[in-house]
Amino acid sequence: IMKKIAIYGKGGIGKSTVTSTLSACMADAGKKVMQIGCDPKADSTFNLLKGRQIVPAMDVLLANGGVCPSLDSVVQLGYKGIACVEAGGPTPGSGCAGRGIVKTFDVLEEFDAFGVYHPDYVLFDVLGDVVCGGFATPLRAGYAEEVVIVTSGEKMALYAAENIAKALDNFASRGYAKLRGIILNCRSVPNEEEIVRNFAQRLNTEILGIVPRDDNIQKAEDQGMTVEEMDSQLPISHTFQAIAKKIMDCGVA
Ligand code: ATP
Ligand code: MG
Repeated sequence: IMKKIAIYGKGGIGKSTVTSTLSACMADAGKKVMQIGCDPKADSTFNLLKGRQIVPAMDVLLANGGVCPSLDSVVQLGYKGIACVEAGGPTPGSGCAGRGIVKTFDVLEEFDAFGVYHPDYVLFDVLGDVVCGGFATPLRAGYAEEVVIVTSGEKMALYAAENIAKALDNFASRGYAKLRGIILNCRSVPNEEEIVRNFAQRLNTEILGIVPRDDNIQKAEDQGMTVEEMDSQLPISHTFQAIAKKIMDCGVA
């Protein structure tokens, strides 16, 4: 049984770091994982691939007259066999940035990617500044069942987080994804924990974990890996393991 989780948050808030580290923790816990980057920058899975960047599915399509030649032209196996995909986006100026996501999901469906890799967990890493068009696709029925929002205590991050939560409310009646909780990725804002606790309470949701600022994250990134891969015994790795466990525990996998 497969569980799909979309991780949303404002640009630059730490979504890709959080998503790839959670993927690594789940893989270390013996689970089969697929991570799908839904961001035109196509760098979501960077730290699962020793710093290699995948050719985004959108670019594979463009290079092949709109036809995907094979599943392995858009899926690369990374750390512990994590199946990595990057949606990418259209050429800047030639269409909505979310179009790559829609196209990529079509390709994955066409090639029965979930059937081929049969992951226990699928993690979508989604840019959440604007939750419309392609960027709302992972929330739709049939994609993610649950959404995790990454935020700091900064106003703009909370604003984006609130918009994501509102979008979920609007979609709720259509069987779309449900809000699973919030991950606080700290930015040294005064009273940050309290601010985000109050925010979570207002949204009637849970804080799944608090990730402190930690230089090891950068250090690992410089080696093209997650902190979990670099040293799973570090306190920061334990923090991510606990969050991953929380997400897995009430799952069905
Ligand atoms: P984008 O919207 O551009 O895709 P993002 O939300 O995916 O950004 P990341 O790329 O994960 O953000 O993080 C941005 C930078 O912040 C990265 O260089 C990452 O190493 C660093 N970073 C994230 N979280 C932490 C943390 N808790 N401590 C230290 N550095 C962090
Ligand atoms: Mg990112």
